[in-house]
Amino acid sequence: TVGAITLTPTGSMAAATSTSGLFMKRPGRVGDSPLSGSGFYVDSEIGGAAATGLGEDIMKGCLSYEIVRLMGTDRTPQQACDEAVYPFIEKLQRRYGQAGEFSLIAMDHAGHWGVATNVEFTFSVATTHQAPVILMAHPGPNQTTT
Ligand code: ASP
Repeated sequence: TVGAITLTPTGSMAAATSTSGLFMKRPGRVGDSPLSGSGFYVDSEIGGAAATGLGEDIMKGCLSYEIVRLMGTDRTPQQACDEAVYPFIEKLQRRYGQAGEFSLIAMDHAGHWGVATNVEFTFSVATTHQAPVILMAHPGPNQTTT
């Protein structure tokens, strides 16, 4: 999946995903990517989020919505990602004995961003003043490197 969150100079935000789904998926399977709240979610007054990875697990947590909800309660995007994703991974492991691989990106309405993942995950940040920077997120809170 490719996911994107944008913020315009006038403060409008959008989030989008594009995916081929999972390898060997069953005919008719609908993953998280087209589902608002799971694969993506945005509220221009708060921020947006987008997901990639095992849709069946992402959907169980409505993770994109949950991250935006948390950003709406004064969490930074990074805090919201950490709070939504890592306890949820633990819950999946407790309940099902495993968690699929997935990653989330988030940006608030001021352009601050965050990310959470349980795999190695590369993503890119760009502004009107700065060319795209490629960053790498590692599993665990606040584990982003250039
Ligand atoms: N999230 C997608 C799905 O479950 C797969 C992906 O991210 O590659 O359909």
